[in-house]
Amino acid sequence: MKEIILAKYGEIILKGGNRAKFESMLMTNIKNSLRNVAETSIRLAQATVYVEVEDGDKIDLVVERLSKIFGLVAITKAAVCEKDIDDIREKAKEYLAKDLTPGKKFKVEAKRSDKSFPLNSPQICMEVGGWLDDEFPEIIVDVHNPDVTVRVEVRDFAAYVYADENKIQGQGGMPIGSGNKATLLLSGGIDSPVAGHMISKRGVEIDAVNFFSFPYTSERAKEKVIKLASILAQYTSKINLYIVPFTEIQLQIRDKCPEEQMTLIMRRFMMRIAERIAVQNKSKALITGESVGQVASQTLAALDVTNAVVDMPILQPLIGMDKLEITDRSVAIGAYETSILPYEDCCTVFTPKHPTTNPKRENIEKSEKHLDIEKLIEEALAGVEKIEVYPE
Ligand code: ATP
Ligand code: MG
Repeated sequence: MKEIILAKYGEIILKGGNRAKFESMLMTNIKNSLRNVAETSIRLAQATVYVEVEDGDKIDLVVERLSKIFGLVAITKAAVCEKDIDDIREKAKEYLAKDLTPGKKFKVEAKRSDKSFPLNSPQICMEVGGWLDDEFPEIIVDVHNPDVTVRVEVRDFAAYVYADENKIQGQGGMPIGSGNKATLLLSGGIDSPVAGHMISKRGVEIDAVNFFSFPYTSERAKEKVIKLASILAQYTSKINLYIVPFTEIQLQIRDKCPEEQMTLIMRRFMMRIAERIAVQNKSKALITGESVGQVASQTLAALDVTNAVVDMPILQPLIGMDKLEITDRSVAIGAYETSILPYEDCCTVFTPKHPTTNPKRENIEKSEKHLDIEKLIEEALAGVEKIEVYPE
């Protein structure tokens, strides 16, 4: 039986006069995401994207990809029927046989956007519901509390039948490209990929920056960051990842600054360098994975000291979230298994025994006088490696 995918968009509906612009971004993102997955034909009508997949074996793969596209709220496969009530009934019976098992309560909901179809919506419900009730004697009509809601949609080109229960939830959010670009400080941990996902969900394109301390951190640690970027790219289609050599800066901080301030001074360098890369690439904000109180460098005093060195807005979407909530999201976006791989991060190598939790800007600035900040930044920027990361 011929199947199609129906994908419904969400918040774009609220966009009034700009709606067409957002729709076209969504369509472009869908096409890009499916380009290397399957031959498809895609069209949009009435807040629904219709995706036909040439090779039926690939339909589930396409559904999986669509479930990662920001802007879509629900995705379902449906049987394609002729616009003829007999065909709709036959197809409903065959297509939904696996759902309408003995004892199931069901109802039919119909929508007719093609007003030339001879039956109106209540009549379609009666015809299809009555027929299914006859054909499957052990199912029960229950319009108030159904286990299975059979949907019939009569549209311009065809009619479609599916069961609500087989719908999967989309990502929600806004299409990538509708909200400028931001630069994510991407470590190998659990938090920063989640932070990147949350901001890109609002339509923001993402670049990523990672600070890397060769030889203190291994090649495998770098592979891990690239892998995390490729997981995020499943949602954003492509990520430019900038790997910044950080060893010299860390060694100088270790040698010239008080040990308890080491992490904060390092974090300040990360922010400064990330801001330079962001400006060069026309990003409008930085994103970090900080959450108040999670570690010593995330007290409000410490965040004040860290954030003081840049002018750009710093987006910290996890700021009020608990570790457990963040972990749940990490699992949901598919990053968790990679994030917990045990390769060392550049910070874990240079961690003070007793980091300061109540730092003052003046004290940190005084310690930084022992460093040639501008020279260190320029040297690091000169060694940046850019990697274009695509969905894996
Ligand atoms: P994460 O799980 O994201 O590593 P964390 O809880 O370990 O976060 P920190 O190590 O204090 O917290 O880092 C705070 C934020 O600073 C990170 O979420 C990330 O945005 C950024 N960051 C830390 N280390 C790096 C790094 N090596 N490269 C890029 N960004 C980093
Ligand atoms: Mg970390």
